[in-house]
Amino acid sequence: HYPLRRQRQMCIRDRNKGEKMNPELLEDVVRQVLSEMKLESSKMVDIYNYGIFDSVDDAINASEIAQRQLFECSVQKRNEYVNAIRQIILKKDNLEMMSRDAVEETGIGRYEDKILKNKLAAEKTPGMEDLITRAVSGQDGLTLEEYCPFGVIGSITPTTNPTETFISNSISMIVGGNTVVFSPHPRAKNTSIRLVKLMNKALEQAGAPRNLISMVKEPSIENTNLMMNHPKIKMLVATGGPAIVKTVLSSGKKAIGAGAGNPPVVVDETADIEKAAKDIVAGSSFDNNVPCIAEKEVFAVESICDQLIYHMKKNGAYEITSYEMIEKLDKLVSQENGKPNTDFVGKSAKYILEKLGINVDDSIRLIICRTNKDHHLVQEEMLMPILPIVSVSDVDVAIEYAYEAEHRNRHTAIMHSRNVEKLSKMAKKLEATIFVKNAPSYAGIGVGGEGYTTFTIAGPTGEGLTSPKSFCRVRRCTISDSFSIR
Ligand code: NAD
Repeated sequence: HYPLRRQRQMCIRDRNKGEKMNPELLEDVVRQVLSEMKLESSKMVDIYNYGIFDSVDDAINASEIAQRQLFECSVQKRNEYVNAIRQIILKKDNLEMMSRDAVEETGIGRYEDKILKNKLAAEKTPGMEDLITRAVSGQDGLTLEEYCPFGVIGSITPTTNPTETFISNSISMIVGGNTVVFSPHPRAKNTSIRLVKLMNKALEQAGAPRNLISMVKEPSIENTNLMMNHPKIKMLVATGGPAIVKTVLSSGKKAIGAGAGNPPVVVDETADIEKAAKDIVAGSSFDNNVPCIAEKEVFAVESICDQLIYHMKKNGAYEITSYEMIEKLDKLVSQENGKPNTDFVGKSAKYILEKLGINVDDSIRLIICRTNKDHHLVQEEMLMPILPIVSVSDVDVAIEYAYEAEHRNRHTAIMHSRNVEKLSKMAKKLEATIFVKNAPSYAGIGVGGEGYTTFTIAGPTGEGLTSPKSFCRVRRCTISDSFSIR
């Protein structure tokens, strides 16, 4: 995006200062010089920039060509390609690099937890086993129904899981025979570019078509809109807040919306309180509370509430008890309009407490406070390690309040109880896409819980935990009077 001469000057300046040269910048300069040389000698230019394009149009056109090539490959080949993605991501250096990149660039989340999440995305996103063909045979012959690609998918991704969403969606979409053009949040630009290049390099080495994954150099709202309206984009997937989900659902195209949550936790008197406390702190503080599935508020039966708080404090929670300090905290981390102040989204409990003049050590991972059920910290999805706790007279009231606080997002809910009847009541009432019983919320995406993972949980459009088949069209193929061999 800088003129070539300026880029060269920047490199030379960096070198003269003895500073470490930006490898992406250097790579770009080399590529452009090569391109100029080839242009001057009037030869064909074939410079592969590993899926990074100047314009939306170029990215989508290249993606369409790649999709046609991928469609010619067998499903087994596609699986080999995504296994190459899994392997490159799982290399220790790469896991560390992308986790560090994401935290440093976005200022959101916790490095150690990002490593776990990226690893999870690479290991537990399903492959071709997800695409099960249905067959019906009888006297009239045989009918097959198969999961087939949509084509080029436009995937809009959040700041909170920039790399995890790229990894998981790339695997699922490519297994389904699609290619993907990503629109990351501009705050995750460099992290995203590096990851797209890394995955495309691994794909190239595995013999896959070029540009299976692509994005523009300069992600912006304008470019996202161009992408969404492009006629060659056959499906849109939005992983983010309510505004972008609404936008894709109004696009006139097939769209998957994976939107916001505000997961409540209910704890009743029959629960193992010590374990519940430990699980809640672990889930709620994970990646500094940015996962959309993370525990965001607690409704605890009064008779066990003190005990719960006692054990939470033994497991890394810091309790703010004074009313004035709770209000000061709320004001600090919120904008005038009640939305979270992005300067505090995904920051550590220690960092937030420091801003209130409270110094704690690194063992403190979560801030807790008692509030009433209508408190702003309860009702708003804050995406930071602050967990309000509301005590209630009994479990039925807790379930009712949880229902209200979840705002019918139907996203995620958690309950700690041994009362099967009440567990069923809550599961049925909230209709959440993920309901976790007696475990940290992340058990619902396959960490210490059974099942595959995804970082695109589609509540609004109903696909649930997305997997390769979510990104496919079901097509039928019939042969009459033959191939029934029973
Ligand atoms: P966000 O909605 O601000 O941004 C998400 C993406 O949409 C970004 O790429 C952003 O650039 C783009 N975007 C937002 N508004 C846009 C507009 N008007 N036009 C074009 N593009 C637009 O969300 P965020 O802060 O990055 O992520 C956090 C939110 O995402 C939370 O609400 C969280 O619950 C949700 N989330 C949901 C899931 C899920 O699977 N359901 C997963 C992760 C995050």
